[in-house]
Amino acid sequence: MINQETIQRIMDATRIEEVIGEFVSLKKRGANHIGCCPFHNEKTPSFNVSPSKGIYKCFGCGESGNAVGFLMKHEHYTYPEALRWLAKKYNIEVEEEKLTEEQIERNNERDALFHVSEFAQKYFASLLYENEMGTAVGLSYFHSRGLTDKVIKDFGLGYCLDEWENFTRHALANGYSENVLKKTGLTIFKDDGKTYDRFRGRVMFPIYSVSGRVLGFSGRVLSKEKQAAKYVNSPDSEIYNKSHILYGLYQAKNAITRQDKCYLVEGNIDVISMYQSGVENTVASCGTSLTVEQVRLMRRYTKNVTVLYDGDSAGIKAAFRAVNMLFEEGMHVRVVLFPDGDDPDSYAQKYGSTQLQDYLRDNETNFILFKTKILSADIKGDPIRKAEVLSDIVRTVALVPDLMERTEYVTQCASLLHIPEETLQNELAKTLNRKLYESLNHKPDEGDKDLADNGAQPELQAKEQAKEQAAMKPVTPFMINPAQSQENKIISLLLNYGNEVIAIPSSPGTQATPQNDGGEAAAEKYTVAQIIVGELLNDQLAFVDPVCQLIFNEYAKRLNDGETSVDTQIFVEGENQQVRDTVISMMMDEYTVSDKWREKHIHVPTKEERIGMDVQESLLTLKIKNLYIKIDDIDRQFPYLTDDNERLILISQKMQLMNLKQKIGAALNRVIS
Ligand SMILES: [Zn+2]
Repeated sequence: MINQETIQRIMDATRIEEVIGEFVSLKKRGANHIGCCPFHNEKTPSFNVSPSKGIYKCFGCGESGNAVGFLMKHEHYTYPEALRWLAKKYNIEVEEEKLTEEQIERNNERDALFHVSEFAQKYFASLLYENEMGTAVGLSYFHSRGLTDKVIKDFGLGYCLDEWENFTRHALANGYSENVLKKTGLTIFKDDGKTYDRFRGRVMFPIYSVSGRVLGFSGRVLSKEKQAAKYVNSPDSEIYNKSHILYGLYQAKNAITRQDKCYLVEGNIDVISMYQSGVENTVASCGTSLTVEQVRLMRRYTKNVTVLYDGDSAGIKAAFRAVNMLFEEGMHVRVVLFPDGDDPDSYAQKYGSTQLQDYLRDNETNFILFKTKILSADIKGDPIRKAEVLSDIVRTVALVPDLMERTEYVTQCASLLHIPEETLQNELAKTLNRKLYESLNHKPDEGDKDLADNGAQPELQAKEQAKEQAAMKPVTPFMINPAQSQENKIISLLLNYGNEVIAIPSSPGTQATPQNDGGEAAAEKYTVAQIIVGELLNDQLAFVDPVCQLIFNEYAKRLNDGETSVDTQIFVEGENQQVRDTVISMMMDEYTVSDKWREKHIHVPTKEERIGMDVQESLLTLKIKNLYIKIDDIDRQFPYLTDDNERLILISQKMQLMNLKQKIGAALNRVIS
């Protein structure tokens, strides 16, 4: 609840090199400061901090962000926590937004829920040692599972007596209201006015927040009653949302950071058992299938996760879907399969902690290859099943962000499935293109309008054809698209020089600046961003790379809204991690205005002139590449046409495009020679 003005004051005062300097020893080198990266292990410094741009980037592991991002990543702060840390460092008084009465009431209620949960945890824990039944039933159960008293305390385990309302009466006697007992779900209130303890007769596993507050419980039944559910969990409440919590994270977080790795298991007891065996970096999803919020929570501590499966193949296949989500969130996923009939807990009990640790180390394998092996086992010569398996695996491979890694998987999976590599490569290209198409929000093919507008007879027919043509256009994998480096160059110009005012002479195909009568260049002054956005919007050019498109869209939106300069910090602080990483890389790579202009001209061009020429060259090159694509499309479409009129329209369109291409080509020659 920090108000916007305060946030701005904090950001203005923050010097990134001072902030990072508190955790990393930095040396000044040129405009930047460099040091050894705190996020990966290195001896030669590749961690760069740019004071002028307010960002950092490690060229070793790719970690990057601004000062707030650094604190969130390094200290595991939430966004407000990071802001408060900075405010304290720079002596800025934090003005909290005034709370409404409703908010105050809600805060009070949250506090009450926290209090009663903590009270309940302490009570249940004390019963293990101070109550005859608690010791005889609860404590002996935990001991029978091989848990030590230390671990029982570390996880705050307890027991709820097998009486109808022992806990409820105890809580009411201690001044807790019926309302909070009801809201936490600790007590169930029946319509007939009767009340009873939700967890009666169960051993209790409290569920902690990251900072160690009790949020809710998971209770395991001990009686042999058939109709009782094995586990009962607290219902969601103001403080407990099971899809946002990882069981064991509070106890595991330091070990996860230290080892830069997290084990994901199924049950609470597995977490505790692993912890006791010395594998402390273990968590479980809390009685739900894994959610995206849980993955993001995990990613705050590490990007490396190893999923542990017990050897039941139906269960393994059911869990594959959750793993796709791990990939989507950019995690590196590995897997360990336990021998048939064993889970982490039973394995640890049977063989002890040393052997468990050895087993984990020796049996960890790559997830995609693991999945391929499991699924290929049930193809058994069925061609339809084989096609299903193929597309299932390709969907997962497509989630891997790294091109080299993807290529490697294609080779390995193809050999496991006994199919040609090209088949898998083609499937993958199709999937990637589909994803790209979806991420561009079903943007219509950029050729549609242009072809119709430039055509001699802008008939409906031509539009229809263009649409059909878009549909039958064969897909090319976007990773080898030649326009991509050109796109990067344009975005890099936007980010590094977008707000510089330059003069740019007009040229064919460029309409943002007016031309005077003599055809001489009229040197109107615009910002680089205005020129680039104007030109691309005018020509309806879309980017192939979705990240470039997102960045461009943001510029276009802001300029349209009347902003004259765009602050690149909006991307650095933004939500989208891919955008953030791309922007920071481009800003750190320091776009250098080409020096070739100096050699080609007699008079030494000013920086402004050189930027102007770079902008013009980039725009013209992008346009000409786009024309090549359009002309290519027409050529491809031509043989399918049977109607002579349609052929004529297409020929005339092609002539127009060729003409334009020639003009732009000539202009480009003038710029670069
Ligand atoms: Zn690093």
